[in-house]
Amino acid sequence: MALSYRPSRHSARRPAISFEFFPPKTAEMEAALWEAVHRLETLKPNFVSVTYGAGGSTRERTHATVKRMVEETGLRPAAHLTCVSASKAEVNEVIQSYWDAGVRHIVALRGDPAGGLGTAYVPHPDGYHQTSDLVAGIRQIGDFEITVSAYPEKHPEAASLDADIDALKMKVDAGATRAITQFFFDNDLYFRFLDKVRARGITIPILPGIVPVQNFKQTANFARKTGASVPEWLADRFEGLEDDVATRRLVAAAVCAEQVLDLIDRGCTDLHFYTMNKADLVYAICHLVGIKPAPAAVAVAAE
Ligand code: FAD
Repeated sequence: MALSYRPSRHSARRPAISFEFFPPKTAEMEAALWEAVHRLETLKPNFVSVTYGAGGSTRERTHATVKRMVEETGLRPAAHLTCVSASKAEVNEVIQSYWDAGVRHIVALRGDPAGGLGTAYVPHPDGYHQTSDLVAGIRQIGDFEITVSAYPEKHPEAASLDADIDALKMKVDAGATRAITQFFFDNDLYFRFLDKVRARGITIPILPGIVPVQNFKQTANFARKTGASVPEWLADRFEGLEDDVATRRLVAAAVCAEQVLDLIDRGCTDLHFYTMNKADLVYAICHLVGIKPAPAAVAVAAE
C-alpha cells in the first residue's frame, strides 16, 4: 500500500459510503447502537446494513433493528441473511417479512458452518445449499437489491482464489447486484482482486470493506479466523498500546485514514465501513475524506 498523508487528489469527488451495524443484545448496547446510527445518518450513507448472528441466532433482533431503521430514520437499511440451519421455507418467511416491512435490500450469505469455523459446512437438508441458491430464492420473492460477500484473500474454505471468484460469478449470475469484501489492510490485495474479478466478466460494484481497528488484538484474532492477513507494519503500529486507549484511537484513525485516502486516490468510489456500532472513528475518517453532514444536520445532531 502506498502511504500518503497528503489530501486525496480525488477528494473533490465524494465517495458513496455505507455502514454495517450489528443487532444489540442488551438495553445498553441498544442505546449505543442508536446513538451511532443517528450520528452516522447525518453523513447520508447510500445504505446501512445489519448483520445476522451465526446460525440465525439474531433473527428477531436483526429484523427488529432493520424495521426500526425503516420506520424511524431516513436510512435505506439492508438485512443480512444466512442459510445456516434453516429450511428454504423458514428462510423464505424471513425474506417475505422483510418485504412486508418495506425492506428492499438483502445481504445474502451462506453463513459459517453450524459446527464452528474449521468444520465442514453441512447445508440444511431442505435448505438453500449455496449462496447463489439463496440469491435466486430472494429474486423469486421480490425485487430486492441483493448484496453478496467477496473475499480478496479468498474464503478460507475455497480451494483457490480463482475457485472463489467462480463462486462469486455464480452469485452474480443468480441476481446479486453488489458485493462487499471481507476487510483487508493491504489495498494492493483489493486492487489485484478487482482486476481478477473484472477479467472474469463480473461487473457489479465490489465495495471495499473497511474496518477501523477499535481493538488490535480482537481484530487480529478475527482476521486469523476469516483468512484476512494482518501485515507486520500494522502490528508494529499498535505494539505497546494495549493499555493506552487514547493513543490507540489516534493511531487507529491515522491508519484507517491512510487506507481510505489511498483507496480514493486509486479510483475507489464506494467505501463500506464495519462500524462495530461505534460512530467516532468512522465519522472522523469520513470527515477527512470530505464527507460531512449538511449544515442543518449538524445543528440538529448538536441539539
Ligand atoms: P460464499 O460465497 O457462500 O462462499 C462460501 C464458500 O463456498 C467459499 O469457499 C466459496 O468458494 C464456496 N462456494 C460458494 N458458492 C459455491 C458454489 N456454487 N459451488 C461451489 N462452491 C461454492 N456471517 C454471518 O453469520 N452473519 C452475517 O451477517 C455476515 N455478514 C457478512 C458480511 C460480509 C460483507 C462478509 C464478507 C461476510 C459476512 N459473514 C456473515 C461471514 C460469512 O457468513 C462467512 O464467511 C461464511 O463462511 C461464508 O458465507 P458467504 O456467503 O460469505 O460465502
